Amino acid sequence: PMHSYQAPEGLLKDRIIMVTGAGDGIGRVAAKTYAAHGATVILLGRTISKLESVYDEIEASGHPQPAIVPMNLEGAAVKDYEEMAMTIEDNFGRLDGLLHNAGILGDRTPVELYDPETWNKVMHINATAPFLLTRAVIPLLRLSGDASVIFTSSGVGRQARAYWGAYAVSKFALEGLSQLLADELDDERHNVRVNSLNPGATRTNMRARAYPAENPMKNPTPEDLMPSYLYLMGPDSKGVNGQQLDAQVKK
Ligand code: NDP
Repeated sequence: PMHSYQAPEGLLKDRIIMVTGAGDGIGRVAAKTYAAHGATVILLGRTISKLESVYDEIEASGHPQPAIVPMNLEGAAVKDYEEMAMTIEDNFGRLDGLLHNAGILGDRTPVELYDPETWNKVMHINATAPFLLTRAVIPLLRLSGDASVIFTSSGVGRQARAYWGAYAVSKFALEGLSQLLADELDDERHNVRVNSLNPGATRTNMRARAYPAENPMKNPTPEDLMPSYLYLMGPDSKGVNGQQLDAQVKK
């Protein structure tokens, strides 16, 4: 049902939803889609010009005014996350959704040759930063009453394959974090649900970097995935918790 989900127009009305990596690729489309369904989106990313262009598109469409949080997940300190959480609390009072989408590919190379610095960078951006961010906003998620946290995984985060290096291991780590949080936050009121979502092959810059020889037109666009992204973010997925989901129908 998730893949053919038809979201009602105001699905996310009055919800405050943060999207990381909102300037490009899947995150950009998810942010615009959530806004189009009534959400106030908090656009987090490292390239401000890209975030501004998403902001402008949302405003021009007449959707709720978004907010921009410029943050490079590579260098941000614990204090930066905590200050960001305080700013969200001051401005919005709570957080109803968090899409962990930002990520980097790193090198596609055998473990034997994998550059340790790149390893640390990929692990930090893809796995440790989502920990730091979630940790800082858990109190705001609890204030929602119906919050959804989505971790963006990958096929190689569930079954590793040769040469995917730190990217694969970082996605395994995210799956672990998702399971931990699902177990910790799922109290009797079920007011914070936590799941992982594998977008599957999608036509973005990252996919083109991972598969330079592939015809990009054979892959679905980020827009094609949005039924799953809307279902999991909105109230219709209440009670879905601790699952490993796929945004595309598995072939
Ligand atoms: P893109 O490379 O197109 O977009 C990634 C986004 O993350 C960009 O907006 C980028 O910002 C942001 N980002 C990267 N590093 C940082 C950082 N240090 N701080 C803040 N933001 C950062 O990737 P996709 O849209 O393809 O991927 C989105 C998610 O989906 C990723 O988690 C990816 O692993 C996952 N995924 C994608 C698949 C695919 O086929 N496309 C398949 C499976 C999983 P900037 O634009 O400034 O670089």
